[in-house]
Amino acid sequence: MTHSEPTPVAGRPVVLRGGTVLTMDDAGTVLTDADVLVVDDRIAAVGPALEVPEGTQEIDARGGIVMPGMIDTHRHMWQTAMRGYGADWTLTQYFVWYYLEHGRKFRPQDVAAGNRLSALEAIESGVTTTVDWSHGLQSVDHAEAAVSALRSVPGRFVLAYGNIQAAPWEWTADPAVRSFLERHRDAADGSLGLQLAFDVTGDPAFPEKAAFEVARELGLPVTTHAGVWGATNDDGIRLMHEHGFMTPETVYVHAASLSPDSYHRIAATGGSISVSTESEQSAGQGYPPTWQVRSHGIPVSLSMDTSVWWSGDLFSAMRTTLGADRSREHFEAHLKGDTVTHLALRSEDVVRWATRGGAAALGRDDLGSLEPGKKADVVLIRNDASPVSFPLLNPYGHVAFQAQRGDVHTVIVDGRVVKHAHALVGSDLAGVRREIEDTVQHLRSELGEEAWAAGMYPDLPDAEVLDNPYQYTDYKSEGTHAAREQVFEEHLRNER
Ligand SMILES: [Zn+2]
Repeated sequence: MTHSEPTPVAGRPVVLRGGTVLTMDDAGTVLTDADVLVVDDRIAAVGPALEVPEGTQEIDARGGIVMPGMIDTHRHMWQTAMRGYGADWTLTQYFVWYYLEHGRKFRPQDVAAGNRLSALEAIESGVTTTVDWSHGLQSVDHAEAAVSALRSVPGRFVLAYGNIQAAPWEWTADPAVRSFLERHRDAADGSLGLQLAFDVTGDPAFPEKAAFEVARELGLPVTTHAGVWGATNDDGIRLMHEHGFMTPETVYVHAASLSPDSYHRIAATGGSISVSTESEQSAGQGYPPTWQVRSHGIPVSLSMDTSVWWSGDLFSAMRTTLGADRSREHFEAHLKGDTVTHLALRSEDVVRWATRGGAAALGRDDLGSLEPGKKADVVLIRNDASPVSFPLLNPYGHVAFQAQRGDVHTVIVDGRVVKHAHALVGSDLAGVRREIEDTVQHLRSELGEEAWAAGMYPDLPDAEVLDNPYQYTDYKSEGTHAAREQVFEEHLRNER
């Protein structure tokens, strides 16, 4: 047994031995009883019984699944500081809380605390690359804090710079923001990339044009919440298209309530859609769109959006995306009186979206698969103590429906082991906990107890219980069983 397997030390090659390897290469190659060799920051070899350099450290992958690190293309990492607070929110309640009322109360250190926790959460669950859709950057100090938090955690991140407290044409025109963007664009490397994050309201005057021009001038991709019911719509897509701002590196988040015309424009210009199924199911952006996006041939990546509501792992994203797509496929068929006998979306597809899909969305063809020469971002799913770990028959299905974050045994990012034997390696979780406690305390005292509670527990709408023709008796009312029987008998007599 390998419970005493030593934690690999940095700088030496690592081989994962004897696993079921989902390479996620173009051919969809799956190898059983195979090894993955990591040398420096690269995948050196994949195959059975590999010969390895002297001094290579071994990780036992027998009984487990080895797959590429997962990629999340849209996560508001700063909001992890409020984990779970908005579990019962709609999008409207979210907008009011963050955009109109309390988002402004986040200090730079609060953004940093959320980012650091979110970054650890990501790598711990095998998400080796995360786009930080960072729209709480109300000052450059906030942005610097966000970046240094990301730099302090050994994962890959893309800072998608945004600011919900100002219009995109305002904050992108700020010379201090511009200088920040130029500096971090030039400093960007394989571990930290840069995008611009803003939304397009569909205002016919298209004021967002100036922000797109800044993005073009700086050579930065744009990520935008598109097709969000009540917020962004087809007009925004059309304006972007008519002005030539829809490019292959553009990422459309949600894209859940768009018409076929908008999907055609996205498909024709080569962009991709970041689907956040857990989010779309609760918040109300629109029905999770993969069931129709598939028919337009638009590339898909997965994301989890925000931990203020949902889970931060892509196992949940894969599972809910399969479920939502299949629900819709059955539902649409039933409306026509048909029966779906063969499902169109397979578990392999969602695993691909969670890996290669994310890599393609970010223009990173060095990520997303286990092939020699690719960057060594590797996940081992193996949990010998779990009855869910066997039998391992359909590895894609196992990843999508059986596995969960607690089953992630080892995570390697850029050739460095950042999680081993189910524990983060060299991460100061206690320090992050103190930072988060400080942030929560700050926000709670800023809001006051009443607003704090009201934000967490939104009012329930008036619920009307429909008249029910089968309710002969009120079974909930007081009275004996015999009395109810009598009422029922009387009812039957009256019916006759
Ligand atoms: Zn979002």
